[in-house]
Amino acid sequence: MCGIVGVLGNHEAAPLLVEALKRLEYRGYDSAGIATVHKGRLDRRRAVGKLVNLSDLLVHDPLAGKSGIGHTRWATHGAATVTNAHPHRAGKVAVVHNGIIENFRDLRSELAADGYAQESDTDTETIALLARREIDRGATPVEAARATLKRLQGAFALCFLFDGEEDLMIAARQGSPLAIGHGSGEMFVGSDAIALAPMTDRITYLEEGDWAVITRAGAQIFDGHDRLANRAETRVRLDSARIEKAGYKHFMAKEIAEQPVVIADALKHYTSSKGTLELPEALDFTTIDRVTLVACGTASYACHVAKYWFEQIAGLPADIDIASEFRYRDPVLSPASMAIFVSQSGETADTLAALRHVKDNVAKVVAVINVPTSSIARESDLALPIMAGVEVGVASTKAFTCQLTLLALMALKAAQDRGRIDAATLRDRLETLRALPGLMNAALALSDPIARIAEDLARAQDILFLGRGAMFPLALEGALKLKEISYIHAEGYASGELKHGPIALIDDAVPVIVLAPKDALFDKTVSNMQEVLARNGKVLLLSDAAGVETAGHGTWKTLTLPTVDPLWAPILYAVPAQLLAYHTASPRAPTWTSPETWQNRSRWNSQ
Ligand code: GLU
Repeated sequence: MCGIVGVLGNHEAAPLLVEALKRLEYRGYDSAGIATVHKGRLDRRRAVGKLVNLSDLLVHDPLAGKSGIGHTRWATHGAATVTNAHPHRAGKVAVVHNGIIENFRDLRSELAADGYAQESDTDTETIALLARREIDRGATPVEAARATLKRLQGAFALCFLFDGEEDLMIAARQGSPLAIGHGSGEMFVGSDAIALAPMTDRITYLEEGDWAVITRAGAQIFDGHDRLANRAETRVRLDSARIEKAGYKHFMAKEIAEQPVVIADALKHYTSSKGTLELPEALDFTTIDRVTLVACGTASYACHVAKYWFEQIAGLPADIDIASEFRYRDPVLSPASMAIFVSQSGETADTLAALRHVKDNVAKVVAVINVPTSSIARESDLALPIMAGVEVGVASTKAFTCQLTLLALMALKAAQDRGRIDAATLRDRLETLRALPGLMNAALALSDPIARIAEDLARAQDILFLGRGAMFPLALEGALKLKEISYIHAEGYASGELKHGPIALIDDAVPVIVLAPKDALFDKTVSNMQEVLARNGKVLLLSDAAGVETAGHGTWKTLTLPTVDPLWAPILYAVPAQLLAYHTASPRAPTWTSPETWQNRSRWNSQ
């Protein structure tokens, strides 16, 4: 997800825009640009690659003006080139855009037939051309933007700026978050409040379908039916410590290291020192006959782990699905079921759409989110924050383990409500959960040995992760993290599936990472590991002391983790999985000496 900023200010806009874009760098991007209006004239600068390229360009070719918009692009339509970079301009209109316009092909043909040809390959330029055509037909900028918005399908956040208008921006939101910032005699727009933090903490979040006419005097917000809408202004407390790297080289490293603290925060928030749960009463499983857990990416693996917990601890049937599939099928849901939607940002477009898809067909909709003001939180019956603090790294780490912690507590609550757990067992379970921050610290101390192992892993072209039971989804997550960060192909498999095909891949060039605490399934997993060893496979075994002692012989490497309640092992083992991904991607590792694109760099630096 890329970034949008807008400024109607009292000072030069270009430096403010670049600074705000820097604060959005964490989202990843491949090019950037800004446009300003100065003495009534719209002008823009765009550059491929890192923001520093845009800054350099601005040094040689400055852009004056106190009104402007800026963008970091993550290309979806058209390569990362200057021509495709935003802002896109057509006549008097400039626009920046997050997201995808799904009907852009039809619109583009319609415009071309009308003499409005596109220069770029993007879906975004189509928006600028639509608005230009309206203006050419005599519309005012506001009318042109309104008419344009009516034509767009898909998910987007937009900000328009107009030639000849130094006191006007138009912002719109549909499926992609956008915040308006209030200053004194100044107004701002940002993809999130973090972008605007140095300029203002007075924020109004646009709701789905909203669009806003912004001048220095304030913002007039309209809903999707063009009715004037009253959206609250809130003071957003951004704990700046949580969005600085605090001495770490990368946000990802900092966020991995923060896990013991944030997990302890979450446990403190949702449990009492007496050994009882402190979840809201509205989270009531007494009459619930099934839970359906829906999410995307890493959050979907948290749901997958939680399926094992709900079934094992609470005897409650649990379904899981990825949101982009769930929203387009016709799920058969029990009216007495609870649907749980998990999203770090609370803005994940597919998860939000999935929520809306079933909202009226289930007994209760629960959101597990990190941002309490988010759309998914607002549209649910009950929103439970995971207490992870701002997560800047694109690859989720601490949000994943906080999601797991909260889902574990929810499964315990389900067991309690359904009479499946007595008070003493519940106390014991909470006790072992409370031990996790300490155990995670011990796991973090393995960072150096993991970095050494990673130097070898970084030479591999393919890596397999194996796990059984609730460690299977963790194998999927380990593989996802590794490929996302290091660009090395990795797959996660249920250990028992190995013999049904993937075993053909095994040789000494494919490291196999086995996640196997010494639990009830350990012997089964070890048999699968033997199949790998028998084919000269290179096994890295992650287990506890007892597991390493029993099965470490003959493996390539072992990592000994603290002994943990087997139920909660996925939470603890997430830490070495994240560290393996982080160190394998480390610029010190050999892959990074191979030819790399600026795209890799910019992505890496944003982790
Ligand atoms: N779809 C637009 C493009 O490819 C916007 C992508 C983005 O969200 O950065 O230019």
